[in-house]
Amino acid sequence: MSAQATRSVGFISLGCPKATVDSERILSSLRADGYSISPNYDKADVVIVNTCGFIDEAITESLDAIGEALTENGKVIVTGCLGAKSSLIRDKFPAVIAVTGPQETDEVMSAIRSNFPIAENPHVDLIPRHDVRLTPRHYAYLKISEGCNHKCTFCIIPSMRGKLVSRPIGSILEEARVLVKSGVRELLVISQDTSAFGVDQKYRTDFWNGKPIKTRLLELSTELGKLGAWVRLHYVYPYPNVDDLIPLMSDGVILPYLDIPFQHASHRILKLMKRPANSENVLNRINTWRSICPDIAIRSTFIVGFPGETETEFQELLDFLTEANLDRVGCFEYSAVEGATANHLQEMNVPDEVKSDRKARLMQHQHKISSQRLREKIGTTQTVLIDEMCAENVAIGRTQYDAPEIDGRVIIRNAPQLASGDIVKTIITDSDDHDLFANA
Ligand code: SF4
Repeated sequence: MSAQATRSVGFISLGCPKATVDSERILSSLRADGYSISPNYDKADVVIVNTCGFIDEAITESLDAIGEALTENGKVIVTGCLGAKSSLIRDKFPAVIAVTGPQETDEVMSAIRSNFPIAENPHVDLIPRHDVRLTPRHYAYLKISEGCNHKCTFCIIPSMRGKLVSRPIGSILEEARVLVKSGVRELLVISQDTSAFGVDQKYRTDFWNGKPIKTRLLELSTELGKLGAWVRLHYVYPYPNVDDLIPLMSDGVILPYLDIPFQHASHRILKLMKRPANSENVLNRINTWRSICPDIAIRSTFIVGFPGETETEFQELLDFLTEANLDRVGCFEYSAVEGATANHLQEMNVPDEVKSDRKARLMQHQHKISSQRLREKIGTTQTVLIDEMCAENVAIGRTQYDAPEIDGRVIIRNAPQLASGDIVKTIITDSDDHDLFANA
Protein backbone atom coordinates (compact mmCIF):
# COMPACT_ATOMS: atom_id res chain seq x y z
CA MET A 1 0.00 0.00 0.00
CA SER A 2 1.35 3.43 -0.88
CA ALA A 3 2.15 6.01 1.77
CA GLN A 4 -0.43 8.71 2.43
CA ALA A 5 -0.10 12.06 4.14
CA THR A 6 -2.52 11.08 6.90
CA ARG A 7 -4.20 7.91 8.05
CA SER A 8 -6.74 7.21 10.69
CA VAL A 9 -6.88 4.21 13.04
CA GLY A 10 -9.95 2.98 14.92
CA PHE A 11 -9.34 1.37 18.30
CA ILE A 12 -11.37 -1.01 20.46
CA SER A 13 -9.94 -1.61 23.93
CA LEU A 14 -11.33 -4.55 25.91
CA GLY A 15 -10.27 -6.26 29.12
CA CYS A 16 -8.75 -5.36 32.46
CA PRO A 17 -6.71 -2.28 33.51
CA LYS A 18 -3.52 -4.10 32.41
CA ALA A 19 -4.93 -4.31 28.88
CA THR A 20 -5.97 -0.64 29.13
CA VAL A 21 -2.32 0.27 29.75
CA ASP A 22 -1.31 -1.75 26.65
CA SER A 23 -3.95 0.17 24.66
CA GLU A 24 -2.57 3.48 25.96
CA ARG A 25 0.93 2.49 24.81
CA ILE A 26 -0.25 1.58 21.30
CA LEU A 27 -2.32 4.76 21.00
CA SER A 28 0.65 6.85 22.18
CA SER A 29 2.90 5.22 19.56
CA LEU A 30 0.31 5.78 16.83
CA ARG A 31 0.06 9.47 17.76
CA ALA A 32 3.86 9.80 17.88
CA ASP A 33 4.05 8.34 14.36
CA GLY A 34 1.49 10.85 13.06
CA TYR A 35 -1.60 8.60 12.80
CA SER A 36 -4.91 10.07 13.91
CA ILE A 37 -7.41 8.13 16.00
CA SER A 38 -10.86 7.64 14.50
CA PRO A 39 -13.91 7.53 16.77
CA ASN A 40 -15.91 5.49 14.24
CA TYR A 41 -15.51 2.56 11.88
CA ASP A 42 -16.25 4.25 8.55
CA LYS A 43 -13.61 6.99 8.82
CA ALA A 44 -10.87 4.55 9.92
CA ASP A 45 -8.32 3.08 7.48
CA VAL A 46 -7.91 0.13 9.86
CA VAL A 47 -9.28 -0.96 13.25
CA ILE A 48 -7.13 -2.38 16.06
CA VAL A 49 -8.96 -4.65 18.52
CA ASN A 50 -7.16 -5.14 21.86
CA THR A 51 -8.71 -8.36 23.16
CA CYS A 52 -9.13 -10.15 26.49
CA GLY A 53 -8.89 -13.93 26.85
CA PHE A 54 -9.31 -14.39 30.61
CA ILE A 55 -12.63 -16.24 30.82
CA ASP A 56 -15.13 -17.58 28.29
CA GLU A 57 -17.31 -14.48 28.51
CA ALA A 58 -14.32 -12.24 27.72
CA ILE A 59 -13.30 -14.48 24.79
CA THR A 60 -16.83 -14.27 23.35
CA GLU A 61 -16.86 -10.49 23.76
CA SER A 62 -13.48 -10.23 22.02
CA LEU A 63 -14.52 -12.48 19.12
CA ASP A 64 -17.76 -10.47 18.71
CA ALA A 65 -15.74 -7.24 18.62
CA ILE A 66 -13.40 -8.61 15.92
CA GLY A 67 -16.40 -9.83 13.88
CA GLU A 68 -18.12 -6.45 14.16
CA ALA A 69 -14.97 -4.53 13.18
CA LEU A 70 -14.53 -6.79 10.13
CA THR A 71 -18.13 -6.31 9.07
CA GLU A 72 -18.14 -2.55 9.64
CA ASN A 73 -14.65 -1.71 8.39
CA GLY A 74 -13.07 -4.79 6.84
CA LYS A 75 -9.46 -4.10 7.87
CA VAL A 76 -8.60 -5.37 11.31
CA ILE A 77 -5.46 -5.98 13.39
CA VAL A 78 -5.93 -8.06 16.54
CA THR A 79 -3.76 -7.75 19.63
CA GLY A 80 -3.92 -8.52 23.37
CA CYS A 81 -4.42 -11.65 25.46
CA LEU A 82 -6.62 -13.50 23.00
CA GLY A 83 -4.02 -12.72 20.33
CA ALA A 84 -1.82 -15.29 22.09
CA LYS A 85 -4.22 -17.88 20.61
CA SER A 86 -3.70 -16.72 17.06
CA SER A 87 -4.93 -19.95 15.44
CA LEU A 88 -8.33 -19.54 17.12
CA ILE A 89 -8.63 -16.05 15.62
CA ARG A 90 -7.21 -16.98 12.20
CA ASP A 91 -9.55 -19.99 11.90
CA LYS A 92 -12.61 -17.92 12.69
CA PHE A 93 -11.56 -14.72 10.90
CA PRO A 94 -9.06 -15.50 8.09
CA ALA A 95 -9.39 -11.91 6.82
CA VAL A 96 -7.67 -10.27 9.79
CA ILE A 97 -4.47 -8.53 8.70
CA ALA A 98 -2.27 -9.41 11.69
CA VAL A 99 -2.58 -11.06 15.08
CA THR A 100 -0.21 -10.14 17.91
CA GLY A 101 -0.15 -11.08 21.59
CA PRO A 102 -0.35 -9.03 24.79
CA GLN A 103 2.05 -6.11 25.35
CA GLU A 104 3.36 -6.40 21.75
CA THR A 105 3.22 -2.70 20.92
CA ASP A 106 6.18 -2.95 18.51
CA GLU A 107 4.56 -5.81 16.56
CA VAL A 108 1.27 -3.88 16.27
CA MET A 109 3.14 -0.80 15.11
CA SER A 110 5.10 -2.70 12.45
CA ALA A 111 1.83 -4.25 11.15
CA ILE A 112 0.36 -0.74 10.95
CA ARG A 113 3.43 0.84 9.37
CA SER A 114 3.85 -1.84 6.71
CA ASN A 115 0.17 -2.14 5.77
CA PHE A 116 -0.88 1.50 6.21
CA PRO A 117 2.24 3.64 5.73
CA ILE A 118 2.13 7.39 6.06
CA ALA A 119 4.42 9.67 4.13
CA GLU A 120 7.36 10.95 6.13
CA ASN A 121 6.60 14.30 7.65
CA PRO A 122 9.60 16.08 9.14
CA HIS A 123 7.28 18.16 11.32
CA VAL A 124 5.89 15.11 13.11
CA ASP A 125 9.23 14.52 14.80
CA LEU A 126 9.18 18.06 16.13
CA ILE A 127 5.85 17.59 17.92
CA PRO A 128 6.48 16.79 21.58
CA ARG A 129 5.33 13.27 22.42
CA HIS A 130 2.10 13.20 24.45
CA ASP A 131 1.15 9.90 25.98
CA VAL A 132 -2.46 8.92 25.42
CA ARG A 133 -4.46 7.95 28.49
CA LEU A 134 -7.81 6.21 28.49
CA THR A 135 -8.61 7.11 32.11
CA PRO A 136 -9.96 10.50 33.27
CA ARG A 137 -7.28 13.13 33.88
CA HIS A 138 -7.25 12.79 37.67
CA TYR A 139 -6.33 9.12 38.00
CA ALA A 140 -4.01 6.80 36.10
CA TYR A 141 -2.97 3.18 36.05
CA LEU A 142 0.70 2.56 36.74
CA LYS A 143 1.78 -0.82 35.42
CA ILE A 144 4.82 -2.06 37.32
CA SER A 145 5.42 -5.49 35.78
CA GLU A 146 4.24 -7.95 33.16
CA GLY A 147 3.52 -11.65 33.48
CA CYS A 148 3.36 -13.97 36.45
CA ASN A 149 5.44 -16.79 37.96
CA HIS A 150 2.50 -18.58 39.61
CA LYS A 151 0.69 -21.60 38.27
CA CYS A 152 -2.87 -21.15 39.57
CA THR A 153 -4.64 -24.06 37.94
CA PHE A 154 -7.68 -22.08 36.77
CA CYS A 155 -5.63 -19.40 35.00
CA ILE A 156 -3.88 -19.20 31.65
CA ILE A 157 -2.46 -15.71 32.06
CA PRO A 158 1.15 -16.92 32.52
CA SER A 159 0.91 -18.80 29.21
CA MET A 160 -0.45 -15.67 27.51
CA ARG A 161 1.62 -12.95 29.21
CA GLY A 162 4.70 -14.96 30.11
CA LYS A 163 6.82 -15.05 33.28
CA LEU A 164 7.16 -12.08 35.59
CA VAL A 165 9.19 -9.19 34.18
CA SER A 166 9.42 -6.18 36.49
CA ARG A 167 9.96 -2.72 35.03
CA PRO A 168 13.00 -0.79 36.24
CA ILE A 169 11.92 1.01 39.42
CA GLY A 170 13.54 4.27 38.28
CA SER A 171 11.45 4.41 35.11
CA ILE A 172 8.22 3.62 37.02
CA LEU A 173 8.91 6.42 39.49
CA GLU A 174 9.73 8.83 36.67
CA GLU A 175 6.48 7.93 34.91
CA ALA A 176 4.58 8.45 38.18
CA ARG A 177 6.26 11.81 38.76
CA VAL A 178 5.27 13.01 35.28
CA LEU A 179 1.70 11.79 35.80
CA VAL A 180 1.36 13.62 39.11
CA LYS A 181 2.86 16.75 37.55
CA SER A 182 0.25 16.57 34.79
CA GLY A 183 -2.62 16.61 37.30
CA VAL A 184 -3.09 12.96 38.32
CA ARG A 185 -4.33 12.79 41.92
CA GLU A 186 -4.51 9.01 42.26
CA LEU A 187 -2.05 6.36 41.04
CA LEU A 188 -3.48 2.86 40.68
CA VAL A 189 -0.61 0.38 40.85
CA ILE A 190 -1.37 -2.67 38.70
CA SER A 191 0.30 -5.82 37.38
CA GLN A 192 -0.60 -9.52 37.35
CA ASP A 193 1.14 -9.98 40.69
CA THR A 194 1.99 -6.70 42.41
CA SER A 195 3.64 -8.17 45.51
CA ALA A 196 6.16 -10.10 43.37
CA PHE A 197 7.58 -6.86 42.00
CA GLY A 198 11.37 -7.18 41.70
CA VAL A 199 11.58 -10.95 42.37
CA ASP A 200 12.71 -11.60 38.77
CA GLN A 201 15.37 -8.86 39.11
CA LYS A 202 16.58 -10.26 42.43
CA TYR A 203 15.61 -6.84 43.86
CA ARG A 204 18.42 -5.28 41.90
CA THR A 205 19.51 -1.73 42.71
CA ASP A 206 18.43 0.93 40.21
CA PHE A 207 18.66 4.70 40.46
CA TRP A 208 16.08 7.44 40.81
CA ASN A 209 16.56 11.08 41.67
CA GLY A 210 20.29 10.39 41.74
CA LYS A 211 19.96 7.88 44.56
CA PRO A 212 20.21 4.08 44.60
CA ILE A 213 16.93 2.25 45.15
CA LYS A 214 16.08 -1.45 45.31
CA THR A 215 13.55 -2.91 42.86
CA ARG A 216 11.09 -3.94 45.57
CA LEU A 217 7.45 -3.13 46.36
CA LEU A 218 8.20 -1.63 49.78
CA GLU A 219 10.69 0.87 48.31
CA LEU A 220 8.43 1.56 45.32
CA SER A 221 5.40 2.23 47.55
CA THR A 222 7.43 4.46 49.88
CA GLU A 223 8.73 6.62 47.02
CA LEU A 224 5.36 6.75 45.23
CA GLY A 225 3.84 7.92 48.50
CA LYS A 226 6.14 10.95 48.51
CA LEU A 227 4.82 12.25 45.17
CA GLY A 228 1.70 13.84 46.67
CA ALA A 229 -0.99 11.67 45.03
CA TRP A 230 -3.11 8.85 46.42
CA VAL A 231 -1.38 5.50 45.83
CA ARG A 232 -3.61 2.43 45.64
CA LEU A 233 -2.32 -1.13 45.34
CA HIS A 234 -4.19 -3.64 43.17
CA TYR A 235 -3.76 -7.39 42.50
CA VAL A 236 -1.66 -8.04 45.58
CA TYR A 237 -0.93 -11.75 45.89
CA PRO A 238 -1.02 -12.78 49.59
CA TYR A 239 2.75 -13.21 50.08
CA PRO A 240 4.23 -12.62 53.57
CA ASN A 241 5.91 -9.41 52.33
CA VAL A 242 2.48 -7.74 52.14
CA ASP A 243 2.72 -7.39 55.93
CA ASP A 244 5.57 -4.87 55.46
CA LEU A 245 3.25 -2.53 53.53
CA ILE A 246 0.68 -2.11 56.30
CA PRO A 247 2.75 0.41 58.34
CA LEU A 248 2.96 2.57 55.18
CA MET A 249 -0.83 2.54 55.13
CA SER A 250 -1.22 3.43 58.80
CA ASP A 251 1.32 6.26 58.34
CA GLY A 252 -0.69 7.65 55.40
CA VAL A 253 2.14 7.10 52.88
CA ILE A 254 -0.11 4.95 50.66
CA LEU A 255 -3.87 4.43 50.86
CA PRO A 256 -5.16 1.99 53.49
CA TYR A 257 -6.49 -0.27 50.75
CA LEU A 258 -5.57 -3.77 49.69
CA ASP A 259 -6.99 -5.50 46.64
CA ILE A 260 -5.92 -9.05 47.48
CA PRO A 261 -7.58 -12.00 45.71
CA PHE A 262 -7.92 -14.91 48.18
CA GLN A 263 -9.98 -17.04 45.70
CA HIS A 264 -11.22 -19.54 48.33
CA ALA A 265 -10.95 -20.50 51.99
CA SER A 266 -11.04 -24.30 51.91
CA HIS A 267 -7.59 -25.81 52.34
CA ARG A 268 -8.31 -28.60 49.85
CA ILE A 269 -9.74 -26.33 47.15
CA LEU A 270 -6.89 -23.83 47.53
CA LYS A 271 -4.42 -26.69 47.08
CA LEU A 272 -6.26 -27.82 43.95
CA MET A 273 -6.06 -24.22 42.74
CA LYS A 274 -2.33 -24.12 43.65
CA ARG A 275 -2.88 -21.08 45.85
CA PRO A 276 -1.55 -20.35 49.37
CA ALA A 277 -3.67 -22.77 51.41
CA ASN A 278 -4.06 -21.70 55.02
CA SER A 279 -7.18 -19.67 55.72
CA GLU A 280 -6.58 -19.63 59.49
CA ASN A 281 -3.28 -17.97 58.78
CA VAL A 282 -5.03 -15.51 56.44
CA LEU A 283 -7.53 -14.59 59.17
CA ASN A 284 -4.69 -14.05 61.65
CA ARG A 285 -2.90 -11.85 59.17
CA ILE A 286 -6.03 -9.78 58.49
CA ASN A 287 -6.41 -9.28 62.26
CA THR A 288 -2.78 -8.20 62.53
CA TRP A 289 -3.17 -5.80 59.60
CA ARG A 290 -6.20 -4.28 61.32
CA SER A 291 -4.36 -3.95 64.61
CA ILE A 292 -1.67 -1.90 62.80
CA CYS A 293 -4.00 -0.02 60.44
CA PRO A 294 -7.54 -0.16 61.88
CA ASP A 295 -9.24 1.52 58.92
CA ILE A 296 -7.67 -0.64 56.20
CA ALA A 297 -10.18 -1.53 53.45
CA ILE A 298 -9.77 -5.02 52.04
CA ARG A 299 -11.17 -6.02 48.68
CA SER A 300 -10.98 -9.62 47.48
CA THR A 301 -12.29 -11.97 44.83
CA PHE A 302 -13.41 -15.58 45.12
CA ILE A 303 -14.21 -18.41 42.74
CA VAL A 304 -17.19 -20.68 43.52
CA GLY A 305 -17.93 -24.02 41.89
CA PHE A 306 -14.29 -25.00 41.36
CA PRO A 307 -14.22 -28.69 40.29
CA GLY A 308 -14.90 -30.90 43.31
CA GLU A 309 -16.07 -28.07 45.61
CA THR A 310 -18.48 -29.66 48.10
CA GLU A 311 -21.30 -27.92 49.94
CA THR A 312 -19.23 -28.19 53.14
CA GLU A 313 -16.25 -26.49 51.47
CA PHE A 314 -18.51 -23.76 50.12
CA GLN A 315 -19.89 -23.30 53.65
CA GLU A 316 -16.28 -22.97 54.86
CA LEU A 317 -15.91 -20.08 52.43
CA LEU A 318 -19.04 -18.39 53.80
CA ASP A 319 -17.74 -18.85 57.37
CA PHE A 320 -14.42 -17.33 56.32
CA LEU A 321 -16.25 -14.29 54.90
CA THR A 322 -18.12 -13.85 58.18
CA GLU A 323 -14.84 -13.92 60.10
CA ALA A 324 -12.81 -11.85 57.65
CA ASN A 325 -15.40 -9.02 57.54
CA LEU A 326 -14.07 -7.77 54.19
CA ASP A 327 -15.16 -4.46 52.72
CA ARG A 328 -15.74 -5.46 49.11
CA VAL A 329 -15.94 -8.85 47.46
CA GLY A 330 -16.20 -9.99 43.85
CA CYS A 331 -17.27 -13.51 42.98
CA PHE A 332 -16.86 -15.56 39.79
CA GLU A 333 -18.45 -18.86 38.93
CA TYR A 334 -15.65 -21.23 37.91
CA SER A 335 -15.47 -21.67 34.15
CA ALA A 336 -12.99 -23.91 32.39
CA VAL A 337 -10.63 -21.94 30.17
CA GLU A 338 -8.97 -23.76 27.29
CA GLY A 339 -5.41 -24.64 28.26
CA ALA A 340 -5.87 -24.32 32.04
CA THR A 341 -4.44 -27.17 34.16
CA ALA A 342 -7.65 -27.40 36.22
CA ASN A 343 -9.30 -28.87 33.12
CA HIS A 344 -7.96 -32.31 34.10
CA LEU A 345 -10.37 -32.14 37.08
CA GLN A 346 -13.30 -31.96 34.67
CA GLU A 347 -14.92 -35.18 35.89
CA MET A 348 -15.47 -33.42 39.23
CA ASN A 349 -17.26 -30.47 37.59
CA VAL A 350 -19.89 -28.75 39.70
CA PRO A 351 -23.21 -28.43 37.80
CA ASP A 352 -23.91 -24.95 36.41
CA GLU A 353 -27.07 -24.44 38.48
CA VAL A 354 -25.14 -25.25 41.70
CA LYS A 355 -22.43 -22.76 40.72
CA SER A 356 -25.00 -20.00 40.09
CA ASP A 357 -26.78 -20.81 43.34
CA ARG A 358 -23.51 -20.63 45.29
CA LYS A 359 -22.53 -17.35 43.68
CA ALA A 360 -25.93 -15.85 44.57
CA ARG A 361 -25.66 -17.14 48.15
CA LEU A 362 -22.12 -15.83 48.55
CA MET A 363 -23.05 -12.39 47.25
CA GLN A 364 -26.12 -12.26 49.49
CA HIS A 365 -24.01 -13.28 52.48
CA GLN A 366 -21.30 -10.71 51.72
CA HIS A 367 -23.84 -8.06 50.90
CA LYS A 368 -24.89 -7.88 54.58
CA ILE A 369 -21.24 -7.61 55.65
CA SER A 370 -20.35 -4.90 53.13
CA SER A 371 -23.53 -2.90 53.90
CA GLN A 372 -22.74 -3.01 57.61
CA ARG A 373 -19.17 -1.83 56.98
CA LEU A 374 -20.55 1.09 54.97
CA ARG A 375 -23.10 1.91 57.71
CA GLU A 376 -20.23 2.20 60.19
CA LYS A 377 -18.96 5.17 58.17
CA ILE A 378 -22.11 7.23 58.82
CA GLY A 379 -21.22 10.23 60.97
CA THR A 380 -17.51 10.06 60.12
CA THR A 381 -15.61 12.75 58.25
CA GLN A 382 -14.15 11.43 55.00
CA THR A 383 -11.70 12.80 52.49
CA VAL A 384 -13.27 12.46 49.06
CA LEU A 385 -11.65 12.65 45.63
CA ILE A 386 -14.20 14.11 43.21
CA ASP A 387 -14.72 12.10 40.01
CA GLU A 388 -17.43 14.20 38.40
CA MET A 389 -20.08 16.82 38.91
CA CYS A 390 -23.64 15.84 38.00
CA ALA A 391 -26.61 18.05 37.39
CA GLU A 392 -28.30 19.84 40.26
CA ASN A 393 -25.33 20.34 42.53
CA VAL A 394 -24.54 16.70 43.02
CA ALA A 395 -20.87 15.72 43.13
CA ILE A 396 -19.73 12.11 42.76
CA GLY A 397 -16.49 11.07 44.39
CA ARG A 398 -14.73 8.31 46.27
CA THR A 399 -13.18 7.88 49.67
CA GLN A 400 -9.70 6.42 49.98
CA TYR A 401 -11.40 3.06 50.65
CA ASP A 402 -12.89 2.85 47.16
CA ALA A 403 -11.15 2.31 43.82
CA PRO A 404 -12.62 3.76 40.61
CA GLU A 405 -14.97 1.59 38.57
CA ILE A 406 -14.95 -1.43 40.90
CA ASP A 407 -15.92 -0.12 44.37
CA GLY A 408 -18.49 2.34 45.69
CA ARG A 409 -18.93 6.10 45.45
CA VAL A 410 -19.77 9.04 47.67
CA ILE A 411 -22.71 11.08 46.42
CA ILE A 412 -22.46 14.63 47.79
CA ARG A 413 -25.74 16.53 47.60
CA ASN A 414 -25.97 20.33 47.58
CA ALA A 415 -22.34 20.44 46.54
CA PRO A 416 -20.67 23.68 45.45
CA GLN A 417 -19.17 23.68 41.97
CA LEU A 418 -16.33 21.15 42.19
CA ALA A 419 -14.02 19.79 39.51
CA SER A 420 -12.76 16.26 38.84
CA GLY A 421 -9.65 15.75 40.92
CA ASP A 422 -10.68 18.13 43.72
CA ILE A 423 -10.22 16.68 47.19
CA VAL A 424 -12.78 17.71 49.83
CA LYS A 425 -13.67 16.71 53.36
CA THR A 426 -17.28 15.76 54.01
CA ILE A 427 -19.40 14.15 56.73
CA ILE A 428 -21.13 10.92 55.71
CA THR A 429 -24.86 11.11 56.39
CA ASP A 430 -26.19 7.89 54.92
CA SER A 431 -25.32 4.69 53.07
CA ASP A 432 -27.02 2.11 50.88
CA ASP A 433 -25.86 -1.31 49.77
CA HIS A 434 -22.98 0.05 47.73
CA ASP A 435 -22.52 3.80 48.12
CA LEU A 436 -22.16 6.52 50.74
CA PHE A 437 -24.05 9.81 50.86
CA ALA A 438 -23.07 13.21 52.21
CA ASN A 439 -24.35 16.78 52.30
CA ALA A 440 -21.89 19.50 51.48
S1 SF4 B 1 -1.37 -15.16 40.40
FE1 SF4 B 1 -2.49 -16.93 39.59
S2 SF4 B 1 -4.45 -16.03 38.92
FE2 SF4 B 1 -3.01 -14.34 39.11
S3 SF4 B 1 -2.12 -14.14 37.02
FE3 SF4 B 1 -0.76 -15.45 38.22
S4 SF4 B 1 -1.43 -17.52 37.70
FE4 SF4 B 1 -3.10 -16.15 37.12
